Amino acid sequence: MLEPTMNDKLKDSINKRILEMKRRVEADSERDFSFYNRPIEDVSGGSKVVIAGQEMGMFASYSYLGLIGHPRIAKAAKRAVDEFGTGTHGVRLLAGTLPVHRELENTIAEFKNAEAAITFSSGYVTNLTVISTLLGRGDFVISDKLNHASIVDGCTISNAKFLRFRHNDMADLERRLESLPLSAGKLVVVDAVFSMDGDIIDLPRVSELCKKHGAWLMVDEAHSVGVLGETGRGVEEHFGLSDAVDIKMGTLSKAIPASGGYIAGSKDLINYLRYSARAYIFSAALTPPQAAAANEAFKVIVDEPWRVDRLRQNFRLFRDGIRDAGLDTLSATAGIVPVICGTDDQAYQVTRLCQRAGVFVLPVLFPAVPPGLSRLRATVMATHKEQSIKEAINVIAESSGKVLSSPLGSV
Ligand code: PMP
Repeated sequence: MLEPTMNDKLKDSINKRILEMKRRVEADSERDFSFYNRPIEDVSGGSKVVIAGQEMGMFASYSYLGLIGHPRIAKAAKRAVDEFGTGTHGVRLLAGTLPVHRELENTIAEFKNAEAAITFSSGYVTNLTVISTLLGRGDFVISDKLNHASIVDGCTISNAKFLRFRHNDMADLERRLESLPLSAGKLVVVDAVFSMDGDIIDLPRVSELCKKHGAWLMVDEAHSVGVLGETGRGVEEHFGLSDAVDIKMGTLSKAIPASGGYIAGSKDLINYLRYSARAYIFSAALTPPQAAAANEAFKVIVDEPWRVDRLRQNFRLFRDGIRDAGLDTLSATAGIVPVICGTDDQAYQVTRLCQRAGVFVLPVLFPAVPPGLSRLRATVMATHKEQSIKEAINVIAESSGKVLSSPLGSV
């Protein structure tokens, strides 16, 4: 057999992918469309940022409650560094568990009205490891079509049969459930607030269907904790339900200003994950400052209820303003406001005009969203002032107007 030459390697599929991305990034840069991976130089309290020396209103943050830099949370993180240092002695199962991890898990369990909780190093990893740990060959996982990539990846790597149902379509979910063997292990997974569209899952109906068909229900609350419910406790509180969700998943990187992910649920479920979830057994524990910051943040949410309230008001002001300007925001209900632009190019152009006018928004393109529905994905925070929200609405409306009415599609 002939040895592969350097020339063969340059033509292989791996190399093609690498080169294709290089070309794409260079082409975007030539057209002044470099919006991703830019360092934020100053977070100035969160609702404003400085990027490449330019101050802009921040309308692309997941820090919904404006808790980044909160003095109590920062102090808790610093205290944890003084007490425990910056790292752990390894994975949680072995020498990585500190009192601060247990404290955080108790706080989460209480906040989420669950018996127990377990934490992982990120939200992404939480979905991956939990879905693939719970399911095996012969089981079924049924996922909403618009679920986050981490859920999709968890379903893909599990050995279960992976089925999808049409977005938030309960008749379609029921059809799938009815088609499955009675005694098979079944897990239904959904986002609480969908991260591209900002709409809310029909939890009462999903929960009812799961109970009727003997399926477990896992809900990803990345965008609903701190956002939904009177006190920010999430999607069950929003619908006035308790015990509707078996596996309550969330992140510590959005309304909670740290990083990490968690599952809250029954004691037995959490115990099972503590001894079998690969990301818990084979990946290092959350660092002490992350765990302490997250722990304090849940307490701040309880102690400062005005934040959840203000977020809700700001969201309505922002979404309604964008809608009143004649723009399409789909059926956004909480957290995220999609502003539909059309093609990738149009989304890029609207973004550029907004950023030049001092409003930091970012585009989301195909394949993250369907073709023709490329969009700005805008968010507001509890700490935004009414005036800056109104200014942002004007900038987004004017920028969209210029691009979407331009006959050449170019401004
Ligand atoms: N689930 C959803 C719905 C998300 O939007 C995200 C992050 N964007 C994640 C999970 C992953 O969370 P993390 O960033 O904490 O890894």
